[in-house]
Amino acid sequence: MSRKHIGLIYTGGTVGMTRTAQGYAPMPDFESFLARLLESQDASLPRYTLHAYESPIDSSNATPQDWQRIGRDIAARYNDYDGFVILHGTDTMAYTAAALSFMLQGVRKPVIMTGSQIPLSAPNSDAPHNLVTALQLAASEEVNEVTIYFNGRLLRGNRATKVSITALDAFDSPNYPWLAEAGTQMRFDMQALLPRADKERFELPDYDDALVVPLRFVPGLPVRAVQALLDLGPQAVILQCYGAGNIPDRDPGFLELLGRAHAGGVVLVACSQSPQGKVSIGTYAAGAGMTAAGVIGASDMGFEAIFAKLHHLFALGMPADVVRKKFLCNLSGELTD
Ligand code: ASP
Repeated sequence: MSRKHIGLIYTGGTVGMTRTAQGYAPMPDFESFLARLLESQDASLPRYTLHAYESPIDSSNATPQDWQRIGRDIAARYNDYDGFVILHGTDTMAYTAAALSFMLQGVRKPVIMTGSQIPLSAPNSDAPHNLVTALQLAASEEVNEVTIYFNGRLLRGNRATKVSITALDAFDSPNYPWLAEAGTQMRFDMQALLPRADKERFELPDYDDALVVPLRFVPGLPVRAVQALLDLGPQAVILQCYGAGNIPDRDPGFLELLGRAHAGGVVLVACSQSPQGKVSIGTYAAGAGMTAAGVIGASDMGFEAIFAKLHHLFALGMPADVVRKKFLCNLSGELTD
């Protein structure tokens, strides 16, 4: 079998940074560092071609337009490579991964996002392992979806979240099994992986600046804070509720506001502040009024996937009532049917 060829897209992140007086910032000669590392690997590693972005970013600066750029770059080069590795900062990697999973629906090649907690140029960096394993995974037959590989775990991109600021186990998918685990060999969970689709169904709309805002409930949150948020005129509000999907109901003001916002065309989605389990509005009396107010539960979708999915659906030009329906459909493994 011929040696596989991987498209390696470098977008930024700690992996390519170096220490400066202002803190970590992108290093100028990252490409040669990378080349030296990969040259020292054995010949079983797939061939790669690097596409380094001219101005690598700290991923905390990423916007939906950056997601769009990466998605379109993969789509434009889709036939040139057997798989893709995307080097990206860890801070918003899960958002980008989720967005890519909606752009690249039905992808029939591995798309592996990775990065590192310690720069590649620093001693004891976790980058060599993450990068080399990501390249191997990008050459695998088993993976046909957008994923994150980090420190031994392969995770579905739209189920992943950053769980640690400093540990090398920076990512997990609390509501979905790992797709594979590294050991002496890679152990794939074939039940958890998406089967190869019959055909790609890429959707690459212009990601505009839809106003999708989070609202995290905290004890004693004043109704006027919610009012102020709704006064911004958002297209969607992600209500980060307690537990199964509860919000305070002692003050009827919350539900009245939400009901009015829904009637005015705002998409209201309820998720949970707890990372594990499924939102089920109405389990408790305290959450019961939400359905009547037009709020839809996000089931077992994670926050990053919810945010990226709403952006994606708005970018497709759907009106609010269609977004509400589509949002509840599983597009790319982000939601358990
Ligand atoms: N701030 C960095 C980024 O997200 C963190 C990292 O890459 O680990 O780009």
